[in-house]
Amino acid sequence: MIYLDYAATTPLDKDVLEAMLPFMKENFGNPSSQHAHGRLSANAVVAARDKIARIFGCKPDEIFFTSGGTEAGNWALKGVCAAEGKSRGHIAVSAIEHPAVLESAKDMQKFGYEVTFIQPDKNGIITPQAVQKAVRGDTVFCAVMHANNETGVIQPVEEIGALLKERGVFYYCDCVQTAGVLSLPVGHCSALGISAHKFYGPVGFGVLYIENGAKISRLISGGMQERGLRGGTSNTAAAVGCAAALEIAVNSAQANRAKVCALRDAFVSRVIAEIEGAHLNGGGEKLPSHANISFDGCDGENILFLLDMQGVAVSTGSACSAGAVTPSHVLLSMGLGESRAKSAVRFTFGKYNTAEEADKAFAALKYAVEKIRSAK
Ligand code: PLP
Repeated sequence: MIYLDYAATTPLDKDVLEAMLPFMKENFGNPSSQHAHGRLSANAVVAARDKIARIFGCKPDEIFFTSGGTEAGNWALKGVCAAEGKSRGHIAVSAIEHPAVLESAKDMQKFGYEVTFIQPDKNGIITPQAVQKAVRGDTVFCAVMHANNETGVIQPVEEIGALLKERGVFYYCDCVQTAGVLSLPVGHCSALGISAHKFYGPVGFGVLYIENGAKISRLISGGMQERGLRGGTSNTAAAVGCAAALEIAVNSAQANRAKVCALRDAFVSRVIAEIEGAHLNGGGEKLPSHANISFDGCDGENILFLLDMQGVAVSTGSACSAGAVTPSHVLLSMGLGESRAKSAVRFTFGKYNTAEEADKAFAALKYAVEKIRSAK
Protein backbone atom coordinates (compact mmCIF):
# COMPACT_ATOMS: atom_id res chain seq x y z
CA MET A 1 0.00 0.00 0.00
CA ILE A 2 1.14 3.53 -0.74
CA TYR A 3 -0.01 5.59 2.19
CA LEU A 4 -0.66 9.27 1.43
CA ASP A 5 -3.00 10.00 4.31
CA TYR A 6 -0.60 11.05 7.08
CA ALA A 7 -2.91 13.91 8.14
CA ALA A 8 -5.55 11.32 9.08
CA THR A 9 -3.20 9.23 11.18
CA THR A 10 0.39 8.01 11.23
CA PRO A 11 1.91 4.61 11.98
CA LEU A 12 3.52 4.16 15.39
CA ASP A 13 7.27 4.81 15.27
CA LYS A 14 9.09 1.62 16.33
CA ASP A 15 11.15 3.49 18.95
CA VAL A 16 7.92 4.84 20.41
CA LEU A 17 6.51 1.32 20.61
CA GLU A 18 9.70 0.15 22.38
CA ALA A 19 9.30 2.95 24.94
CA MET A 20 5.65 2.02 25.55
CA LEU A 21 5.91 -1.78 25.74
CA PRO A 22 7.20 -2.11 29.34
CA PHE A 23 4.16 -0.16 30.54
CA MET A 24 1.79 -2.53 28.78
CA LYS A 25 3.55 -5.64 30.10
CA GLU A 26 5.56 -5.88 33.33
CA ASN A 27 5.07 -2.26 34.53
CA PHE A 28 1.30 -2.30 34.25
CA GLY A 29 0.45 -0.70 37.63
CA ASN A 30 -2.20 1.96 38.01
CA PRO A 31 -0.35 5.26 38.56
CA SER A 32 -2.88 6.15 41.29
CA SER A 33 -2.05 2.97 43.30
CA GLN A 34 -0.02 3.40 46.49
CA HIS A 35 2.27 0.37 46.03
CA ALA A 36 5.61 0.09 44.24
CA HIS A 37 3.97 -1.05 41.00
CA GLY A 38 1.80 2.06 40.99
CA ARG A 39 4.70 4.34 41.89
CA LEU A 40 6.69 3.04 38.91
CA SER A 41 3.84 4.03 36.59
CA ALA A 42 3.26 7.34 38.38
CA ASN A 43 6.94 8.22 37.94
CA ALA A 44 6.69 7.44 34.22
CA VAL A 45 3.62 9.70 33.88
CA VAL A 46 5.47 12.50 35.71
CA ALA A 47 8.50 12.07 33.44
CA ALA A 48 6.28 12.13 30.31
CA ARG A 49 4.56 15.32 31.50
CA ASP A 50 7.92 16.95 32.28
CA LYS A 51 9.31 16.05 28.86
CA ILE A 52 6.24 17.40 27.04
CA ALA A 53 6.33 20.61 29.11
CA ARG A 54 10.01 21.08 28.29
CA ILE A 55 9.28 20.70 24.57
CA PHE A 56 6.29 23.06 24.79
CA GLY A 57 8.31 25.57 26.81
CA CYS A 58 5.74 25.67 29.62
CA LYS A 59 5.33 24.41 33.18
CA PRO A 60 4.40 20.75 33.80
CA ASP A 61 1.25 21.84 35.65
CA GLU A 62 0.04 23.50 32.44
CA ILE A 63 -0.02 20.11 30.67
CA PHE A 64 -3.19 17.99 30.88
CA PHE A 65 -3.54 14.55 29.30
CA THR A 66 -6.64 13.81 27.22
CA SER A 67 -7.92 11.10 24.90
CA GLY A 68 -6.83 13.15 21.86
CA GLY A 69 -7.50 16.29 19.86
CA THR A 70 -11.28 15.95 19.94
CA GLU A 71 -11.41 15.91 23.73
CA ALA A 72 -8.92 18.78 23.93
CA GLY A 73 -11.16 20.98 21.74
CA ASN A 74 -14.34 19.98 23.59
CA TRP A 75 -12.72 20.60 26.97
CA ALA A 76 -11.35 24.01 26.02
CA LEU A 77 -14.58 25.35 24.56
CA LYS A 78 -17.08 23.82 26.97
CA GLY A 79 -14.76 24.25 29.95
CA VAL A 80 -14.50 28.00 29.35
CA CYS A 81 -18.27 28.38 28.97
CA ALA A 82 -18.82 26.33 32.15
CA ALA A 83 -16.31 28.47 34.06
CA GLU A 84 -18.25 31.59 33.03
CA GLY A 85 -21.22 30.07 34.88
CA LYS A 86 -23.67 31.89 32.63
CA SER A 87 -26.13 30.50 30.12
CA ARG A 88 -25.49 33.36 27.69
CA GLY A 89 -22.50 34.76 25.98
CA HIS A 90 -20.69 34.82 22.69
CA ILE A 91 -18.22 32.42 21.10
CA ALA A 92 -16.22 33.05 17.91
CA VAL A 93 -14.74 30.08 16.06
CA SER A 94 -13.19 29.95 12.63
CA ALA A 95 -15.38 28.31 9.98
CA ILE A 96 -12.46 26.05 9.01
CA GLU A 97 -12.06 24.39 12.44
CA HIS A 98 -12.19 20.64 12.88
CA PRO A 99 -15.63 19.28 13.93
CA ALA A 100 -14.16 18.83 17.44
CA VAL A 101 -14.47 22.61 17.83
CA LEU A 102 -17.34 23.36 15.42
CA GLU A 103 -19.66 20.79 16.94
CA SER A 104 -18.71 21.87 20.47
CA ALA A 105 -19.68 25.43 19.54
CA LYS A 106 -22.99 24.16 18.14
CA ASP A 107 -23.58 22.26 21.41
CA MET A 108 -23.20 25.53 23.32
CA GLN A 109 -25.69 27.23 20.96
CA LYS A 110 -28.28 24.86 22.43
CA PHE A 111 -27.46 26.27 25.88
CA GLY A 112 -28.06 29.84 24.74
CA TYR A 113 -24.61 30.90 23.52
CA GLU A 114 -24.38 32.91 20.32
CA VAL A 115 -21.73 31.70 17.89
CA THR A 116 -19.94 33.60 15.12
CA PHE A 117 -18.23 31.44 12.50
CA ILE A 118 -15.28 33.48 11.23
CA GLN A 119 -14.90 33.09 7.46
CA PRO A 120 -11.50 32.62 5.81
CA ASP A 121 -10.31 34.53 2.76
CA LYS A 122 -10.07 32.80 -0.61
CA ASN A 123 -6.69 31.30 0.30
CA GLY A 124 -8.12 29.66 3.40
CA ILE A 125 -6.55 32.14 5.81
CA ILE A 126 -8.38 33.54 8.84
CA THR A 127 -7.10 37.10 8.95
CA PRO A 128 -6.57 39.00 12.22
CA GLN A 129 -8.96 41.62 10.80
CA ALA A 130 -11.73 39.00 10.48
CA VAL A 131 -11.11 37.91 14.07
CA GLN A 132 -11.13 41.52 15.27
CA LYS A 133 -14.50 42.05 13.56
CA ALA A 134 -16.00 38.90 15.07
CA VAL A 135 -15.03 39.58 18.69
CA ARG A 136 -17.59 41.41 20.83
CA GLY A 137 -17.70 42.77 24.37
CA ASP A 138 -19.32 39.54 25.60
CA THR A 139 -17.05 37.11 23.68
CA VAL A 140 -15.69 34.53 26.11
CA PHE A 141 -13.92 32.14 23.73
CA CYS A 142 -12.28 32.17 20.32
CA ALA A 143 -10.76 29.31 18.33
CA VAL A 144 -8.50 29.62 15.30
CA MET A 145 -6.41 26.56 14.47
CA HIS A 146 -2.63 26.59 13.85
CA ALA A 147 -2.92 24.95 10.42
CA ASN A 148 -5.92 23.50 8.66
CA ASN A 149 -6.16 19.72 8.38
CA GLU A 150 -7.60 19.73 4.84
CA THR A 151 -5.54 22.39 3.08
CA GLY A 152 -2.48 22.59 5.35
CA VAL A 153 -2.77 26.41 5.28
CA ILE A 154 -0.92 27.93 8.25
CA GLN A 155 -2.83 30.61 10.15
CA PRO A 156 -1.46 33.90 11.56
CA VAL A 157 -1.93 32.66 15.12
CA GLU A 158 0.61 34.97 16.77
CA GLU A 159 -1.15 38.11 15.54
CA ILE A 160 -4.54 36.62 16.37
CA GLY A 161 -3.25 35.69 19.84
CA ALA A 162 -1.99 39.22 20.44
CA LEU A 163 -5.30 40.83 19.56
CA LEU A 164 -7.31 38.34 21.62
CA LYS A 165 -5.04 38.89 24.62
CA GLU A 166 -5.66 42.62 24.31
CA ARG A 167 -9.40 42.01 24.21
CA GLY A 168 -9.22 39.61 27.17
CA VAL A 169 -10.68 36.69 25.20
CA PHE A 170 -9.68 33.06 25.89
CA TYR A 171 -7.90 31.78 22.78
CA TYR A 172 -7.85 28.05 21.92
CA CYS A 173 -5.45 27.01 19.16
CA ASP A 174 -5.92 23.52 17.67
CA CYS A 175 -2.37 22.38 16.94
CA VAL A 176 -3.24 18.79 16.04
CA GLN A 177 -1.74 19.10 12.54
CA THR A 178 1.32 21.11 13.55
CA ALA A 179 2.74 19.40 16.65
CA GLY A 180 6.19 18.06 15.82
CA VAL A 181 6.26 20.11 12.60
CA LEU A 182 6.07 23.78 13.64
CA SER A 183 6.97 25.35 16.96
CA LEU A 184 3.80 25.61 19.03
CA PRO A 185 2.28 29.00 19.87
CA VAL A 186 2.66 28.66 23.65
CA GLY A 187 2.67 32.21 25.01
CA HIS A 188 0.37 33.38 22.21
CA CYS A 189 -2.76 31.45 23.25
CA SER A 190 -4.65 30.50 26.42
CA ALA A 191 -4.82 26.82 25.50
CA LEU A 192 -3.77 24.48 22.70
CA GLY A 193 -4.43 20.87 21.82
CA ILE A 194 -2.33 18.15 20.20
CA SER A 195 -2.94 14.48 19.37
CA ALA A 196 -0.23 11.79 19.56
CA HIS A 197 -1.38 9.70 16.58
CA LYS A 198 -0.62 12.58 14.20
CA PHE A 199 3.11 12.46 14.99
CA TYR A 200 3.83 8.72 15.00
CA GLY A 201 2.59 8.22 18.56
CA PRO A 202 -0.30 6.18 19.96
CA VAL A 203 -3.91 6.80 18.91
CA GLY A 204 -6.38 7.87 21.62
CA PHE A 205 -4.01 10.14 23.51
CA GLY A 206 -3.48 13.88 23.42
CA VAL A 207 -2.52 16.93 25.41
CA LEU A 208 -4.38 20.08 26.36
CA TYR A 209 -2.02 22.86 27.39
CA ILE A 210 -3.81 25.39 29.60
CA GLU A 211 -1.97 28.58 30.48
CA ASN A 212 -1.69 29.01 34.24
CA GLY A 213 -4.39 31.33 35.52
CA ALA A 214 -6.81 30.72 32.62
CA LYS A 215 -10.42 30.37 33.74
CA ILE A 216 -11.62 26.90 32.72
CA SER A 217 -13.69 24.13 34.31
CA ARG A 218 -13.24 20.40 33.89
CA LEU A 219 -15.10 18.39 31.25
CA ILE A 220 -14.72 14.90 32.74
CA SER A 221 -15.55 14.45 36.41
CA GLY A 222 -14.12 11.55 38.37
CA GLY A 223 -11.00 10.83 40.36
CA MET A 224 -8.16 13.19 41.14
CA GLN A 225 -6.14 12.43 38.01
CA GLU A 226 -4.83 15.48 36.12
CA ARG A 227 -5.01 17.55 39.34
CA GLY A 228 -8.73 16.80 39.64
CA LEU A 229 -9.51 18.33 36.26
CA ARG A 230 -9.83 15.15 34.22
CA GLY A 231 -10.94 11.94 35.90
CA GLY A 232 -10.07 8.48 34.59
CA THR A 233 -7.15 6.10 35.08
CA SER A 234 -4.06 7.60 33.48
CA ASN A 235 -2.84 5.78 30.38
CA THR A 236 0.82 5.37 31.34
CA ALA A 237 1.96 3.63 28.15
CA ALA A 238 0.28 6.25 25.95
CA ALA A 239 1.69 9.15 28.00
CA VAL A 240 5.19 7.67 27.65
CA GLY A 241 4.56 7.08 23.93
CA CYS A 242 3.24 10.59 23.34
CA ALA A 243 6.29 12.16 25.02
CA ALA A 244 8.69 9.90 23.11
CA ALA A 245 6.95 10.55 19.79
CA LEU A 246 6.94 14.32 20.31
CA GLU A 247 10.62 14.31 21.22
CA ILE A 248 11.52 12.28 18.10
CA ALA A 249 9.32 14.48 15.90
CA VAL A 250 10.80 17.73 17.21
CA ASN A 251 14.40 16.46 16.99
CA SER A 252 13.91 15.30 13.41
CA ALA A 253 11.55 18.09 12.32
CA GLN A 254 14.04 19.86 10.07
CA ALA A 255 15.14 16.74 8.21
CA ASN A 256 11.57 15.42 7.88
CA ARG A 257 10.33 18.77 6.71
CA ALA A 258 12.90 18.93 3.89
CA LYS A 259 12.20 15.36 2.78
CA VAL A 260 8.40 15.54 2.96
CA CYS A 261 8.26 18.98 1.36
CA ALA A 262 10.44 17.85 -1.58
CA LEU A 263 8.21 14.81 -2.20
CA ARG A 264 5.02 16.87 -1.93
CA ASP A 265 6.29 19.71 -4.14
CA ALA A 266 7.51 17.36 -6.88
CA PHE A 267 4.18 15.49 -6.80
CA VAL A 268 2.11 18.70 -6.98
CA SER A 269 4.21 20.18 -9.82
CA ARG A 270 3.74 17.00 -11.81
CA VAL A 271 0.00 16.84 -11.18
CA ILE A 272 -0.54 20.46 -12.20
CA ALA A 273 1.71 20.14 -15.29
CA GLU A 274 0.55 16.75 -16.54
CA ILE A 275 -3.10 16.44 -15.53
CA GLU A 276 -5.33 18.97 -17.21
CA GLY A 277 -7.93 20.71 -15.07
CA ALA A 278 -6.13 20.11 -11.76
CA HIS A 279 -6.31 22.98 -9.25
CA LEU A 280 -4.40 23.35 -6.01
CA ASN A 281 -6.64 24.50 -3.15
CA GLY A 282 -5.48 26.94 -0.48
CA GLY A 283 -2.80 29.58 -0.69
CA GLY A 284 -0.15 31.27 1.40
CA GLU A 285 2.18 29.37 3.70
CA LYS A 286 1.37 25.68 4.04
CA LEU A 287 2.49 22.65 6.01
CA PRO A 288 5.13 20.62 4.09
CA SER A 289 2.92 17.52 3.99
CA HIS A 290 -0.39 18.67 2.54
CA ALA A 291 -1.67 18.93 -1.03
CA ASN A 292 -5.38 19.49 -1.60
CA ILE A 293 -6.18 19.28 -5.31
CA SER A 294 -9.46 19.47 -7.26
CA PHE A 295 -9.90 17.75 -10.61
CA ASP A 296 -12.40 19.19 -13.10
CA GLY A 297 -15.17 16.80 -14.09
CA CYS A 298 -14.38 14.30 -11.32
CA ASP A 299 -15.84 13.37 -8.01
CA GLY A 300 -13.25 13.21 -5.23
CA GLU A 301 -14.92 10.10 -3.82
CA ASN A 302 -14.53 8.31 -7.16
CA ILE A 303 -10.84 9.24 -7.37
CA LEU A 304 -10.36 7.98 -3.82
CA PHE A 305 -12.07 4.72 -4.73
CA LEU A 306 -10.01 4.15 -7.90
CA LEU A 307 -6.80 5.00 -6.04
CA ASP A 308 -7.75 2.61 -3.26
CA MET A 309 -8.24 -0.15 -5.83
CA GLN A 310 -4.68 0.51 -7.01
CA GLY A 311 -3.32 0.43 -3.46
CA VAL A 312 -3.00 4.18 -2.86
CA ALA A 313 -4.60 5.61 0.31
CA VAL A 314 -5.76 9.26 0.24
CA SER A 315 -8.76 11.14 1.61
CA THR A 316 -11.32 13.76 0.69
CA GLY A 317 -12.63 16.49 2.97
CA SER A 318 -16.16 15.41 2.28
CA ALA A 319 -18.35 14.07 5.01
CA CYS A 320 -20.67 11.16 4.45
CA SER A 321 -23.96 11.36 6.27
CA ALA A 322 -27.09 9.34 5.58
CA GLY A 323 -25.58 8.01 2.36
CA ALA A 324 -25.13 11.51 0.88
CA VAL A 325 -21.73 13.11 0.36
CA THR A 326 -21.51 16.69 1.58
CA PRO A 327 -18.60 18.73 0.22
CA SER A 328 -15.89 19.97 2.56
CA HIS A 329 -17.02 22.83 4.81
CA VAL A 330 -13.45 24.17 4.64
CA LEU A 331 -13.34 24.49 0.85
CA LEU A 332 -16.88 25.88 0.69
CA SER A 333 -16.04 28.52 3.31
CA MET A 334 -13.09 29.63 1.13
CA GLY A 335 -15.65 30.49 -1.55
CA LEU A 336 -14.96 27.52 -3.82
CA GLY A 337 -18.00 26.26 -5.72
CA GLU A 338 -19.69 22.99 -4.86
CA SER A 339 -18.29 21.11 -7.86
CA ARG A 340 -14.71 22.24 -7.12
CA ALA A 341 -15.14 21.26 -3.47
CA LYS A 342 -16.64 17.88 -4.38
CA SER A 343 -13.80 17.13 -6.78
CA ALA A 344 -11.10 17.67 -4.15
CA VAL A 345 -8.67 15.03 -2.95
CA ARG A 346 -6.23 15.44 -0.05
CA PHE A 347 -2.78 13.89 -0.40
CA THR A 348 -0.68 14.07 2.77
CA PHE A 349 2.92 12.88 2.79
CA GLY A 350 4.89 11.57 5.74
CA LYS A 351 8.35 10.50 6.83
CA TYR A 352 8.07 6.94 5.52
CA ASN A 353 7.14 7.92 1.94
CA THR A 354 9.64 7.54 -0.92
CA ALA A 355 10.05 9.20 -4.32
CA GLU A 356 9.20 5.88 -5.95
CA GLU A 357 5.88 5.78 -4.07
CA ALA A 358 5.11 9.34 -5.15
CA ASP A 359 5.77 8.35 -8.79
CA LYS A 360 3.50 5.32 -8.53
CA ALA A 361 0.79 7.39 -6.83
CA PHE A 362 1.02 9.94 -9.66
CA ALA A 363 0.56 7.22 -12.30
CA ALA A 364 -2.40 5.76 -10.40
CA LEU A 365 -3.95 9.23 -10.07
CA LYS A 366 -3.56 10.00 -13.79
CA TYR A 367 -5.22 6.70 -14.63
CA ALA A 368 -8.08 7.36 -12.17
CA VAL A 369 -8.79 10.88 -13.47
CA GLU A 370 -8.69 9.75 -17.12
CA LYS A 371 -10.96 6.78 -16.42
CA ILE A 372 -13.55 8.94 -14.62
CA ARG A 373 -13.49 11.57 -17.36
CA SER A 374 -13.72 9.05 -20.19
CA ALA A 375 -16.71 7.36 -18.52
CA LYS A 376 -18.68 10.62 -18.67
N1 PLP B 1 -8.21 18.73 15.13
C1 PLP B 1 -7.67 18.54 13.93
C2 PLP B 1 -7.15 19.72 13.17
C3 PLP B 1 -7.56 17.26 13.38
O1 PLP B 1 -7.01 17.08 12.18
C4 PLP B 1 -8.06 16.16 14.14
C5 PLP B 1 -8.03 14.79 13.59
O2 PLP B 1 -8.03 14.58 12.40
C6 PLP B 1 -8.60 16.41 15.41
C7 PLP B 1 -8.67 17.71 15.87
C8 PLP B 1 -9.12 15.30 16.27
O3 PLP B 1 -8.06 14.61 16.88
P1 PLP B 1 -8.26 13.17 17.48
O4 PLP B 1 -8.30 12.21 16.33
O5 PLP B 1 -7.07 12.94 18.34
O6 PLP B 1 -9.52 13.18 18.28
